[in-house]
Amino acid sequence: MSVITLVADEATLKKMENFYADFFVKTPAHARFQAKVPNCTITAYRSQKVVFQGTKADYEAKTWQAFGASTQAKVLPNKTQAPSPTTIAFDQFDCIGCDESGVGDYFGPVTAACIYIPKAETRRLQALGITDSKKMTDERISEIAPQLMTEFPHAITILPNPKYNQLQAQGIHGHMMKALLHNQALTKLLQQEIARYDYIIMDQFVNEQAYYRYFSTLKVEPVRNLTFVEKAESKSVAVAAASVLARYTYVKAMEKLSQQLGRPLPKGAGKAVDRFAAQLITESGLESLNEYAKQHFATTQKAIALAAE
Ligand code: MG
Repeated sequence: MSVITLVADEATLKKMENFYADFFVKTPAHARFQAKVPNCTITAYRSQKVVFQGTKADYEAKTWQAFGASTQAKVLPNKTQAPSPTTIAFDQFDCIGCDESGVGDYFGPVTAACIYIPKAETRRLQALGITDSKKMTDERISEIAPQLMTEFPHAITILPNPKYNQLQAQGIHGHMMKALLHNQALTKLLQQEIARYDYIIMDQFVNEQAYYRYFSTLKVEPVRNLTFVEKAESKSVAVAAASVLARYTYVKAMEKLSQQLGRPLPKGAGKAVDRFAAQLITESGLESLNEYAKQHFATTQKAIALAAE
């Protein structure tokens, strides 16, 4: 019996999925699908590896290798791993980047964005100064985000504070909410016309196993084949662009909330935010925080203490 491992891009995986659909058996953990044909078992993993096992492994695998350059399928040498995500030069590929904003800010929503950036555009975007949004001013972000939005397929989701507080009260914690928001954005984006892509890069806020576990807990079908990368904003211009869109959306939402309140809400967290929240409680009562703030933050308790002074 022989074992052959291929790495296939998304387009090839889809072809394989269709090709073997009539032979699917129960999908093992961490797999995308498993099919059994005479004398060969084919297991495709979410990591884009496809393992052919059995006396006909060679025959089956060759079918896909024959797709040659167009499939980018290649045989992994024995016992070596696919390159770890952090060593991939993502800007040489067509990528969808994903990032979020507003997570550490007491006031305002959590936003998530994903954007498709083809490799031919990465240089130009770098030259425009697109980098991790944390290293850009909100002024620059507000100039550049609308430009990105007109030029590239993208999708954005917003979790307003009342909904955030409601989910939190139901035991759906921050990471789960982020996962859900990202998944909604990705689902919307993938419904649009995108020529092709090599990677969907998620700026890693939890490891891959935990991310997918949230979806089984919540009984939601996630977009799969994500590549989780730590500090991805600095490794992929697509993720940097997503971070710009997410921050832009957060800033816009804060402007709207500030208008509603009649004065500017502070971003971030810290002493100034504690005092602002205390003032809000004094003026409009504790329940007013539901509209503007992430109530489970320690800020709420500090503000209650300050307001009582
Ligand atoms: Mg991030």
